Amino acid sequence: MSLRTDKLAALDLGPFWVRRAVLASMAVAAEPEITAPETTAAATPAETPVPAGQHAPSPVARTAQKLLEQVTRSAHPGAQQARDAGRSATIEPEQDERSQRIAKLDWDALQDDVRQCTACGLCSQRQQTVFGTGVRQPDVLVVGEAPGAEEDRQGEPFVGAAGQLLDSMLRAVSLSRKDQVFIANVLKCHPPANRNPAVDEVLRCSPYLDRQLALLQPKVIFAVGRFAIQHLLKSDAPVSALRGKVHEWQGIPVIVSYHPAYLLRNLPDKSKSWSDLLLLRDTLQNILREKS
Ligand code: SF4
Repeated sequence: MSLRTDKLAALDLGPFWVRRAVLASMAVAAEPEITAPETTAAATPAETPVPAGQHAPSPVARTAQKLLEQVTRSAHPGAQQARDAGRSATIEPEQDERSQRIAKLDWDALQDDVRQCTACGLCSQRQQTVFGTGVRQPDVLVVGEAPGAEEDRQGEPFVGAAGQLLDSMLRAVSLSRKDQVFIANVLKCHPPANRNPAVDEVLRCSPYLDRQLALLQPKVIFAVGRFAIQHLLKSDAPVSALRGKVHEWQGIPVIVSYHPAYLLRNLPDKSKSWSDLLLLRDTLQNILREKS
């Protein structure tokens, strides 16, 4: 493991990145071993031999596959199970159809779909799905990583100590989850033993978050923790390098910060999180001022 990887891992910010564009393309592209969709089969480089009767993987599919291999090779403490799950990931063409279907659901149908979802292995161990909670036209959408054990029991995101800290953080900038905020995670089911989400789990669950974002249309997105940030910003940069700037997801400002669970273990970084909250507050106030 490199020195840089050591440091990132120690901060729980280790390399486990798949760009959003790649995740999306992985949804439409088959792995080299399986038949690629017609729409991605055309761009086959001459140097790649294609077995008779098979479509060739597109350049996008090969890039996705390479990244998937890099991710599953990446060293990160506590991520072995996730890497194992990612290693066995196969991206079926049906996933594209599923994403397109989810992208058309209204709010109630989306909730039902999540409740009944069996698209990844996490469904077998969950007590219940955790869809998200809050107001339907939020000023701020908080995006976290995945439900913990307590969230799995209660069916709500960010309960327990991390949830209390998040509430305090929001209150500190005059925000309340009761009337201004919606809170959701990238994954809707609890990964056992609080392990990191696996690549295929994020791939299969992220259409739900994307649809929530499209329907909620928050004024600002507050992404906490590296999995939420990686998904929203298509960036493999560490959280520390992305803080302090206003990013964008489909025209909506995105502020990034550390996950409250991380802050509970790393108290000195609370001051950085406070700066992020001030940036969130100022960004929201500017938007509200422009709209008034
Ligand atoms: S984590 Fe997401 S994709 Fe996996 S079973 Fe739960 S809702 Fe479905």
